[in-house]
Amino acid sequence: MRRRIVAGNWKMNGSKDLSEKLVGDVRSEAVSLDNGVEVVIIPPAIYIGDVVKQAQGAVSVGVQNVGRWQSGAYTGEISPGMAKDSGCRYVLVGHSERRQLFGESDEMVAEKVSLVVASGLNAIVCVGETLEERESGQAEAVVAGQVRTGLSSVSQGEWQSIVVAYEPVWAIGTGKTATSDDAQAMHAAIRSVLKDMGAPAEEISLLYGGSVKSDNAAALFSEPDVDGGLIGGASLVAKEFMSICRSFP
Ligand code: 13P
Repeated sequence: MRRRIVAGNWKMNGSKDLSEKLVGDVRSEAVSLDNGVEVVIIPPAIYIGDVVKQAQGAVSVGVQNVGRWQSGAYTGEISPGMAKDSGCRYVLVGHSERRQLFGESDEMVAEKVSLVVASGLNAIVCVGETLEERESGQAEAVVAGQVRTGLSSVSQGEWQSIVVAYEPVWAIGTGKTATSDDAQAMHAAIRSVLKDMGAPAEEISLLYGGSVKSDNAAALFSEPDVDGGLIGGASLVAKEFMSICRSFP
């Protein structure tokens, strides 16, 4: 069975206080989950130490971005080695906000994925089309290109460290979710691209993201190729986030 994962991307939200209270609440519920889901919290990097402390190993921790280097004169950057050293297990790579606001290209994503995996971390590689690309019928081609280039540096023994998150840009923070049929169709397309690349596609977890809430998670997670979710806004409220974590069939 593929790993079931629900990851909460706090984006640039939260505080030291939230890192203690919310993570404490999530941890106390996560320990009693019996559906095999791995719960991941991805706070702003400055709170990783606080979140790791509260998570007590019952909740995994990730970082939202890393630089393309392991150390050196790169003021403001964080390396994958540092994320690992601080207790992270996951790294988000190529989130659409990084692509749109900070100019991250598929080639940069590939470089980061390579370093992340070499550092012994798991990469959650984000892909997704804009509304314009969907309306012009190019969604699958755009996403396939992001998968092929973004994962071009992954070698045979490394695929177990890769998770792909499909987040249509038009569904992020808008309250518009892809229908579960649309999500399933894209996830199946991604799996077939992975297979074509020689990856063990059936073993790679594919997460859906974009306005996932407790009231739509069950429909999405019941699709055969949707293995979990990448949650933004709804991950900032423990009750809502844990309800999503319980939404597997
Ligand atoms: P929302 O769940 O707030 O739409 O955000 C999705 C997302 O971008 C998670 O990475």
